[in-house]
Amino acid sequence: MANNEVTITCPICNAGHTTGGTATTIQHTYDLTNYQIPIEAMAITESPEGAKTLIFNCPAKQALFQAAVKRREKNGLIDAFDMEAISPTNSVLFDIGKQMISDSLKVSSSFCATMIPVCTGAIGVYTALFAIVLPKTCSFGITTGIVTLLPALAFIIAATGFAYGAFPRYQNVVLADPQSIETSRENIFRSRQVWVVASFALFCLAIVGAVIVVLWVAATHLSCTAG
Ligand SMILES: [Zn+2]
Repeated sequence: MANNEVTITCPICNAGHTTGGTATTIQHTYDLTNYQIPIEAMAITESPEGAKTLIFNCPAKQALFQAAVKRREKNGLIDAFDMEAISPTNSVLFDIGKQMISDSLKVSSSFCATMIPVCTGAIGVYTALFAIVLPKTCSFGITTGIVTLLPALAFIIAATGFAYGAFPRYQNVVLADPQSIETSRENIFRSRQVWVVASFALFCLAIVGAVIVVLWVAATHLSCTAG
């Protein structure tokens, strides 16, 4: 198991401390194993390939700074260099990252909520298409009847899936315990993602199915339309 700790000379704490020739170096040690959620430390925990610039928070001054980190050799120690105040670009990216994480649950939940009326509305469009292609006098056999029901059923099931995706989930979140917040967020996101993907796939299948069924029924009931 590689040592994932890195000791960094803090550019925030040491700012202005080097006057008079006496350099007081204040250092902080960070464990990169489970580093701040937005930043993947994997790239530097395995091999000594390219340096990676990470954003760190100074525990003394509560300010962000950045440093490049690089492993000396495979499973070797991690060196930090290029310590400096966070660059304007990285500062903006950091804020965007925070925004993306806090929005991720909201976005998937509102997508589910939007898709419910889209699915049910699709049933209306689907039945309206029959009214256009077929005269009212035309009657279906039992097989045709069942086949024409299938896309409508698929739309209803997809709507139910989206409704379940938007369903509020109870999670025991302890604000003092960031790990519990992260776990809850992942749980909600993962379980919802499954429903969103499955329901959306079913919705797409239902659209394709609906088009095929409308064309098939129209083609096989040309005689009714003529008569
Ligand atoms: Zn510091």
